[in-house]
Parts: sequence; C-alpha cells; structure tokens
Amino acid sequence: MKNIYKIREDFPILNKKINGTDLVYFDNAATSQTPKQVIQKIVDYYEQYNSNIHRGLHSLSTDATNQYELSRKIIQKHFGIKNNHEVIFTSGTTHGINIVSSGLESQINSSDELIVSEMEHHSNIVPWQILCEKTDAKLKVIPINKEGSLDIDTFKTMLNKNVKFVSINHVSNSLGTINPIEEIIELAHKNNSKVLLDGAQGAAHFKINLSEINVDYYVASAHKLCGPTGVGFLYGKSELLEALPSYQGGGEMISSVTFKKTEYADLPYKFEAGTPNISGVIGFGAAIDYMNDIGFDNIESYEQELLKYATDRLKEISGIKIYGNPGNKISVISFNLSNHHPSDIGSILDQFGIAVRTGQHCTQPVMDYYNIPGTVRVSLSFYNTKSEIDLFIDALEKASNMLG
Ligand SMILES: *Cc1c(COP(=O)(O)O)cnc(C)c1O
Repeated sequence: MKNIYKIREDFPILNKKINGTDLVYFDNAATSQTPKQVIQKIVDYYEQYNSNIHRGLHSLSTDATNQYELSRKIIQKHFGIKNNHEVIFTSGTTHGINIVSSGLESQINSSDELIVSEMEHHSNIVPWQILCEKTDAKLKVIPINKEGSLDIDTFKTMLNKNVKFVSINHVSNSLGTINPIEEIIELAHKNNSKVLLDGAQGAAHFKINLSEINVDYYVASAHKLCGPTGVGFLYGKSELLEALPSYQGGGEMISSVTFKKTEYADLPYKFEAGTPNISGVIGFGAAIDYMNDIGFDNIESYEQELLKYATDRLKEISGIKIYGNPGNKISVISFNLSNHHPSDIGSILDQFGIAVRTGQHCTQPVMDYYNIPGTVRVSLSFYNTKSEIDLFIDALEKASNMLG
C-alpha cells in the first residue's frame, strides 16, 4: 500500500498499547477497526442534527433524513444495485438473512429443499433450520473438500426441481475461501432456485456488482468494512421483496393503520419498522466512501501481498498446520500449532498485544470436518503491515517455546 503509515493514522485505536506493547490487530474478520472519518461522521450526527428521520418537518429531522437516505444511495451505487428501494437497512447480516428466511415461510412447503454449504457461518445455517422446522422442508448441505473449497460437482447433483433456495457465503470467514459465486448462481438459476449471497466477508475485500452477478438477495454488515456495529443491509430484487411479508410490525413501515386493516408502506420502508440505527446507517455510508477513497483494487492487491507474506512466514514455524488451501482466498489464515489448544495460543499472543480469534469462528461444521476443536485465525486488513506480521511470528515462536 502506497501510504500505509498515513492510512494507519486514520485509525486511532491502532495507537493503543496492550500490556505495554503496541496493539497488533489481526481479528478483522470478526470486526474491522473504524477510521476517524467514520467516527467523526457519527459524532457530527449526535452533535449537529440528532433527531428522528422521516417524521418531522423541522430542520434537524430533514438533515437526518437526508443523510440517512444519502447512505442508501452510496450503498446502492457501490454495490451496483439498480433501484434505490432495493436497499433495506438492517442491524446486520444475521438480521438480513432472517428477514428472508422467515418471510419465505408461506412460500415453502414440505416437498421443498433448501441448500446451504458446510462452510457457512452459523447465521447462514440456523435461520434455514428454523424455516425447515416450521415447514418440514429439507435442508441439504454442499460438502467441502480438504482444500477448503466447495464441492461443486456434488452441488450439481443436488439440484433438482424441489430445490427452491440456495444460500451461500461469498467468502468463508474461517478458511478465507472465495467461492465461485457466478457459477453457483448460474447453476441455481438454471434450476429455477433463488440465491442469497452472504456478503459479510466478501464486501470488505473487493467490490461487487450485484446487478451483474444477478443474485436474488445479498446481505452484509457495516462493521466488517470499517463501519459501526449493529447496522447492515439487505438487497433483494424488487419483485421478490414485494412478495416477501414484512418481518416486524411497527411505525414507519405502514402507510395507513386502522383497526379494520393496516396498509404497509412501499419498499424499502416496509422492512424498516421502528426507529432505525440512524447514526449507524450514516456511519455505514461514510465507511463505504472511506474505503472507496483508498480504492478496492489497492486494498485487494495489498491484502494479497500480506496474505502471501504471512503464509510464508507461518510455514517457517515447525508444527504449524494451516487449514484450507483453496486457489482463491482472502487474507484469512486458520491454523493450529502442534497439539496446543487454540485458546492457549490466543492468550499468549494477547500477552504480546496481538489480537487474533480462536475457536470455531461460528463455523462448527468446518471444525467438525477437519476434526478439530477450533483454530487460531489471523485475519489481515489493508491497514496491517508486514512488520506487524513479524511481531506476530516472533510472539508465536515464543508461545511455541513456552508451551513446549
Ligand atoms: C460475520 C459474519 C456473519 C454475521 O454477521 P453479523 O454482523 O454478526 O450479523 C455472517 N456470515 C459471515 C460469513 C460472517 O463473516
């Protein structure tokens, strides 16, 4: 990255000391850090125009509404979405998936089948299990192979006329695998199955044009791409969102309420019941702007450089086992060191100021597949550096010596 040290100045938290040493933050796949441009935008909202949106005619409310709707436009443009009303603000990826899965209840019956994969995050498994419990539909699972890739040949054999829906992640949060989504979407569409893409990991690492890939639904969270927590969005094709019942009832999602009959508002408001996370949505827009200023091409190539460097250095340590070696992956590395429990490694790394995630990463089926209790996961972002990787490797060597 050209101005990596200048970019790092945007992130106040990167100056933090942990146990007397500089913080090395390698847990970006769990949540990314927030640049001051985004923090300031949120502070501005509370200091300058905090008020409820869409309701008041007063100046503050107009400002808040304009900024909130500006974020919708930023997201629409960034993700190549045709219609503005196809962007629904949610509390995050999990919420977005639940809007779709619970809305489908009336369209799914006991002879239907739904497909997820073995590498899904729990939030793209459990909502579908709940839907299957309610409807008696069958949930089928695309297996993974040793490389940590999806077995597409098996997927092809799973498709039949009963398969109504395929819900798949773009990028695995525990292995880093980038899935061949164009192929999956095309195969599913040929089979008349709708597709939801879990973009929680993918959106942070590269640009995606949703109209081009022709996916039916897409979900993502702001906090994985430099935005605040508790906010995200659901994209759906207009006609599908119109056919989907609203998820919650309340204010803002209606056009008329009487005790005889309530009329729902049009998209997108039909799915945005109650007062939303206004400052969060505004911060989300600022985060997308920030990342576009740096440029997703720059982010992608620099993160690949970090991935290669970290992988090579990790392989120098004896007893390291890296899980997943797919052809295409993002800067996420899941590994174990000898027979040490991942959490023992994690706590020693923390003593050296290094933040990694340990455990199952909300992907227990992946851990079961490799027959391990969990992994240590390093997930690198565009504001990380090679010297941080060196610090991490030193600390890991110390951990290895300490644990024997
Ligand atoms: C983080 C993540 C989720 C869940 O996102 P929330 O913001 O917690 O709702 C879902 N899928 C993947 C692939 C993730 O990485």
